[in-house]
Amino acid sequence: MIKAIISLFWVFFFALNAYAKPPVLESFSVINISPLVENVIFTFNKVKDYRFIMLSNDYWYIAINKKIIRFKCKPKPKLSIKRILIRNIRNETRVYVKMDSRYKYKYRLLLSKNGRYLIVRTEKILTIPAATPNKVITKIPVIVIDPGHGGKDPGAIGIYNKEKNVVLSIGKWVAYYLKHDRYKVFLTRKSDIYPTLAQRAQLANRVKADIFVSIHANYAIKDKYHAKGLEVYFLNTTSDPRAIRLAARENGVSVKKMGDINKIILSLIQSSKIDKSKVLASYVYKNTLKYGKRIYKHYKGRGVKQAPFYVLVDTHCPSILIETAFINNPQDALMLKNPLFRKQVAYGISKGIEEYVQTRLKNTKTQ
Ligand SMILES: [Zn+2]
Repeated sequence: MIKAIISLFWVFFFALNAYAKPPVLESFSVINISPLVENVIFTFNKVKDYRFIMLSNDYWYIAINKKIIRFKCKPKPKLSIKRILIRNIRNETRVYVKMDSRYKYKYRLLLSKNGRYLIVRTEKILTIPAATPNKVITKIPVIVIDPGHGGKDPGAIGIYNKEKNVVLSIGKWVAYYLKHDRYKVFLTRKSDIYPTLAQRAQLANRVKADIFVSIHANYAIKDKYHAKGLEVYFLNTTSDPRAIRLAARENGVSVKKMGDINKIILSLIQSSKIDKSKVLASYVYKNTLKYGKRIYKHYKGRGVKQAPFYVLVDTHCPSILIETAFINNPQDALMLKNPLFRKQVAYGISKGIEEYVQTRLKNTKTQ
């Protein structure tokens, strides 16, 4: 009985204590996830409630639990944050944040389940001159095909070709096959130019793409005689070191930086986008392999995989990245050089996209 009273006492003691203590801001950081997205991360001891108030598009504040906050750190401006002001107003602390006013922003807020992390995800909305100035018809599925690299960025250098040229050829064929099939198709590039990764994703968002497909060719650093075949990726975190190295190379960043991106990528993407992208990846994988094999009997399937690719982070639709074959493997390279194989691969990709669209339409009709 006494034991019960004592433990009850402690429960009350802790409850009271937790109530009386002001919330503590333990650390503050700003991390860029991609060229367009930054995470502003507040780490507290515990937070139940917060208010996020936008004063203008580039000026906002947060207030926690309607209380005065204690600070263990001094928040400092970084990246797109230009100024931080802390004010106690009406029995609450407000952290005012002024963003770089050259951009417009979209915000998303996440409070972790344990009440420790409050993340303000900021996404820049760029206004980019139209690369493909077509009108968008909303009822028709909009598909953006992204031939990787281009211009100053050759991508991987293969035995016979540069990646940028091979994937442009495949991308154009995908667009060709899809246009014959009731789709609105945009290419992020139609020639040997280099749109930035941000511009590619931004084009997809501007035309309200339903599907985004980035096309690449793989490169094996160590094992060019044995590493060969097709891989289709959707955006997610990964623990596979090869996938991290590949994503670092395609993203144009160091492997070390990829680690940071990998860690917080899950906080950024909605699980519905991951699920849909995974389905899209599996349809495209299956069909590309099937049609590719008609020309290249030993075309190897390496599977559907996941990795944190920049170009897939910023799009708002199901998005995948295809590593068609290894441009420095003798057999794969010979095939990538062959226009008939490139056409077959493109046809497979278009069939995979089509199968995905058909399935989605069926599902929405029966709902
Ligand atoms: Zn590439």
